[in-house]
Amino acid sequence: MQHSKLKDHIFDPKKKKFVSPMNAALGDIANINDWFRERLPEYLWIGLVLDYFKSRRAAIRSLASALKRITLEFPDLIIPRLSTIFELPEKDQKRVFNIIELFIPKEALSPLTIIYTFSEEPCFASWLSSGESDVQYLSSIIERVMKKATAYHSDFSTDIVFFVVYTCAVNGKIHLSKNQGFDNIVDDLNSYADAEVLNKEYREIQGFIRCFEQTSISQYQRNQAFLDNFWKKTSSIFECSSMYFKYKKEVKKDVAKSYVSALKAVFLYYRELYRVVDPLNLKFLVLLGLSVYSYKRFMEIVDHNLYNAISGRSVVRTMIECYLMMKYLLKKSKERKNIWEEFQFHGIGKYKAVLKNYQESTETIVSPHINVDYLNAIVNEFKDEEFIDIDTSYFDDVGIRAMAKEVGEKELYSLYYNYDSSFEHGLWGAIRESSMIACQAPAHQYHSIPDVENYQKMKSVWHDAVMVMNKSVNLLIEQFGISDELKDRMKEYGL
Ligand SMILES: [Zn+2]
Repeated sequence: MQHSKLKDHIFDPKKKKFVSPMNAALGDIANINDWFRERLPEYLWIGLVLDYFKSRRAAIRSLASALKRITLEFPDLIIPRLSTIFELPEKDQKRVFNIIELFIPKEALSPLTIIYTFSEEPCFASWLSSGESDVQYLSSIIERVMKKATAYHSDFSTDIVFFVVYTCAVNGKIHLSKNQGFDNIVDDLNSYADAEVLNKEYREIQGFIRCFEQTSISQYQRNQAFLDNFWKKTSSIFECSSMYFKYKKEVKKDVAKSYVSALKAVFLYYRELYRVVDPLNLKFLVLLGLSVYSYKRFMEIVDHNLYNAISGRSVVRTMIECYLMMKYLLKKSKERKNIWEEFQFHGIGKYKAVLKNYQESTETIVSPHINVDYLNAIVNEFKDEEFIDIDTSYFDDVGIRAMAKEVGEKELYSLYYNYDSSFEHGLWGAIRESSMIACQAPAHQYHSIPDVENYQKMKSVWHDAVMVMNKSVNLLIEQFGISDELKDRMKEYGL
């Protein structure tokens, strides 16, 4: 299935959401069409038969013959759902199973005996009782079929739902006008059923089959007890099968070491330049401060091996924010000479708020990680705090998104910063990626398992962290120059 592009989404200003084209067209209906959880359990028996036969054509013919006979004898059984068959009186159930046996070896359905036991479905279980009883073997078949049928748009799933269309057609429940694109739907369905291999020419009829099956859902009551029982049984039969990523650092130790050494030389160079040549230059101080903060965060990745960790992402996000701020301040400084001081006091004001809250707190604060005395000194360093305002918004009241746009770094925001923000805010995407392991057991409905052992190692932040670090260094070079030797050293790392 081809997925839509972002530009195809429809923006809803009230909900502040980009609504997917599918959701916009279907509304709430889309949510109730849950193939894997709600419909596959009913049709799993068809999947088992399809899987049992080596030839697709033979499987479909056998199933079609059985279902045609069943539908003719039991016209109320319009859709071949297993729960509907189980609801029939015992005598009718026996008849249905006998018809199935005329066309399909019982063995094909024997895996279901591990789900439907004699005490629950005596008729069905006793009919299959003489078959294979190796639970491990039978459960592996169920697992394989469920995996094959996981995606609704797969050929295998479409073959399963073909029988919903087929039984409706046999019952005369399909009425189509010619202008729906099918000259003779019965011929098209027959041709689809007869194909040994499904190629492109069947895509249209496959689309029709799925569409018909989906629209028919609303006509039939969902058997919740049957579904609950199915998932309860399967989830206890199968063990969790976890799968996690273990990505590498993506950088050799000596390469990281030599980049870090080049970076250190660059910042030592600027520190000396600032100290000796221009110690009162606020612009230099602020830009150096922002880039050294990035450098220190970068060093944390290397020193503490955070390449694949959640914290590594947090570092990249902060580095982007610092770089954007450097660019923004430089741009605005052309009109506002005091912007460097304004930036400093905006940050100091935030510290003042913390200090005041701490000092005025009525609660006993035990071992805070806030160094209150030092905060007090910082807040009152250049001005008495009485002359410092507390700004509750972003600097200049400009959000990061707008700032990125203003300085021509939209992609840094929309891609990297946005992604890393999910980790910083503990949003579910980030939780799912970093702290939950995917269980591959289809019988567990592909649930997630909390990664308590800390197995999952995400993709390395190395290349992106270097990319942002280099951007910041480049900006310093543009403003304050650098020696040729240091520039050449940094060029080896993509500056
Ligand atoms: Zn599981």
